[in-house]
Amino acid sequence: MTALATAAGAANLGQGFPDTDGPLWVREIARAAILDGANQYPPGRGIPELRSAIAAHQLRHYGITVDPESEVMVSAGATEALTATLLAFVGPGDEVVTLEPFYDSYAAAIAMSGAEHRTVPLRATADGFRLVEADLRAAMSARTRILLINSPHNPTGTVLRPDELRMIADAAQASDAIVVTDEVYEHLTFDGAVHTPLATLPGMAERTISISSAGKTFSLTGWKIGWATGPADLISHVLTVKQFLTYSGGAPLQPAIARALSDGDADIRELRDSLAERRDVLVAGLHTAGFPTSQTEGTYFVCADAKPFLTDATPDGDAFARALPELAGVACVPLSAFCAPGSEAARSVASWVRFTFVKDRSVLDTAIDRLRAFA
Ligand code: PMP
Ligand code: GLN
Repeated sequence: MTALATAAGAANLGQGFPDTDGPLWVREIARAAILDGANQYPPGRGIPELRSAIAAHQLRHYGITVDPESEVMVSAGATEALTATLLAFVGPGDEVVTLEPFYDSYAAAIAMSGAEHRTVPLRATADGFRLVEADLRAAMSARTRILLINSPHNPTGTVLRPDELRMIADAAQASDAIVVTDEVYEHLTFDGAVHTPLATLPGMAERTISISSAGKTFSLTGWKIGWATGPADLISHVLTVKQFLTYSGGAPLQPAIARALSDGDADIRELRDSLAERRDVLVAGLHTAGFPTSQTEGTYFVCADAKPFLTDATPDGDAFARALPELAGVACVPLSAFCAPGSEAARSVASWVRFTFVKDRSVLDTAIDRLRAFA
């Protein structure tokens, strides 16, 4: 979509990455670290300073206690931690359950592991895309080894609520599954929506691997500094796989992210407030252009139903999203890109597309003007 957007000179509300770089003071720390010699392999687990900052962050924000020596692992973005976790615990004969739509790397990493991918559709309701307990139960089986969830959720913007988290915890305990939680948008929630890490639910810390990264929190997506936290025995298996994926990386970036996690709460608040404002601008603009939207409580994204605009030439969200850069000068991503081909969830979101609002106000205004002219 980014290639199509560029070719058409479109306002790119497709791929989710900020067009404003993260805090200068954090980037300055990385610059100084490069000049000061942090340029050789860091420890595989990550530098002690960053592991301590991750542990302190988990305690300060969520009351979660993890030992920085044995229960924290730094990774090449959340993506590597997710892949290493899947490769560590599942293989042929095992099943991994995810929500659907799902972030695209999940299906690929599950396929690499040889395990089977089963999904739980999130259902479009007046209250946003929500989890239904019967769907979750239907997806679980005696072979479910991992329940992989994502909240705040890409692409729907859902922030899982206490009752939904409870359902997940109960299902995992009933199947004796490990829960892997992708929390990369943990700080990007709006209107008082609260991100609750699954590891804080009773009895869950011992079976949960929590994964996050600095990319979204500090608008530094290209740095690819992520982490996994959880029980020492589980983390040690993930580390074993990570050893042979990358071993280690990001030497000068790790001290900068350590400081950002310790001293960056004001920057996080500023980003969250500015994103909430930009979400409001985009949602209002989509409405004036005639798109129904789903409530978005977090992330970079709002989902819109393109049904009013579907034609014989663009009969579904996929065709619509491919044509929109040429037709209207705006790029988005179809929700089908986050679904297994032919699945029930794919059918139910066939007319839906995702727009990102993590762009400069001027880009959002241009996109809205163009969508209104097109509609
Ligand atoms: N999970 C989700 C839900 C994401 O949206 C992203 C970023 N696109 C990632 C994981 C990957 O994070 P990272 O860039 O830290 O690897
Ligand atoms: N998280 C971003 C998205 O979903 C970008 C990541 C990617 O392009 N792989 O748009």
